[in-house]
Amino acid sequence: MNNFSPEQVLIEAKALDYQLGKELKERYEKQKVPIRIIESHNRVKWAEEMSPAQLYQQAKETLVVGVKKTLRFKSCQPSADYRLVTSTSCPGKCEYCYLATNLGPAVYVRVYVNLAEILEAVSKHIKKSDKKITTFEASSSSDPVAVEHITGALARMIEFFAVRDDARLRLATKFTNVDSLLDLEHQGNTKFRFSINADYVIDNFEGNTPNLKARIEAAQKVQRAEYPLGFMIAPIMIFEGWQQQYQQMLERLAANLTVSASEELSFELISFRFSTRAQNLITARHPQSKLDFNKEERHHKGFGKYVYQEKDMQELKDYFTTQIKKYFPQAKIEYWT
Ligand code: SF4
Repeated sequence: MNNFSPEQVLIEAKALDYQLGKELKERYEKQKVPIRIIESHNRVKWAEEMSPAQLYQQAKETLVVGVKKTLRFKSCQPSADYRLVTSTSCPGKCEYCYLATNLGPAVYVRVYVNLAEILEAVSKHIKKSDKKITTFEASSSSDPVAVEHITGALARMIEFFAVRDDARLRLATKFTNVDSLLDLEHQGNTKFRFSINADYVIDNFEGNTPNLKARIEAAQKVQRAEYPLGFMIAPIMIFEGWQQQYQQMLERLAANLTVSASEELSFELISFRFSTRAQNLITARHPQSKLDFNKEERHHKGFGKYVYQEKDMQELKDYFTTQIKKYFPQAKIEYWT
């Protein structure tokens, strides 16, 4: 799969005061990609009225270059202590994406040019923290690997954390654009988690993302480069033949990774869930979606949120616990939800 290449680029005027802002403008001018200067990356105005489906498609092909003004760090449990945001949204078109739902019309791919200021704020925040090691999650608002070829931000973050003994970085990705990160001095302070799933889920619901084979190859490279490594299996779904497909997925993973190092590996397991708001937006954006929103077969958790029924949840949890133990006896399951 090729790296993301936008159909149009919108640049916040203030971003042009930064080196990266200028470079991106030049780069896309050379490539003859249409560029528009805008007032604010938060409030993009589109030229024409569009349906939710059209707006989603256009937004996902648009790169917005901005300056991140809010330099506060929100909590990010259970993954890490705080969120570290250097981009928002991503070029992937996963139908179930909670981020795409939360962002609403602002689902366009955004990168921030003031990375030095963001990292300075991180330093100050770590100083204020009462923890011995403060952890930051780089994927709470985007997939940072998906835009790394545009900003190089992840490389700078990895190097920033490499020289700190009081902080760690974590990131999750479905993308495979990792080559530029392999030779960095990381000191084991950045952990990669690859988001993987059964072929059925990837093929039907994870548009514009690399396939399982490519994700496993990228994980292999990251493991060889001695980064701490983990996997997120999310969202875990029940579909015809799910046991067989998830088993094949784990088999393929085990066959391609150094299992002897599996005590270093972690798994995060997240079952499929949705809210009524998400369902409405997803079906408006993806009218042909095959996502299973059957509320009759779900447990209503309140606040319009639906998860699998208790007996199904137990079956899934037992299944994954047993299978992961079989293929990766030393690996740690960090959480199931
Ligand atoms: Fe959302 Fe992640 Fe898919 Fe991007 S790759 S659309 S952030 S789920």
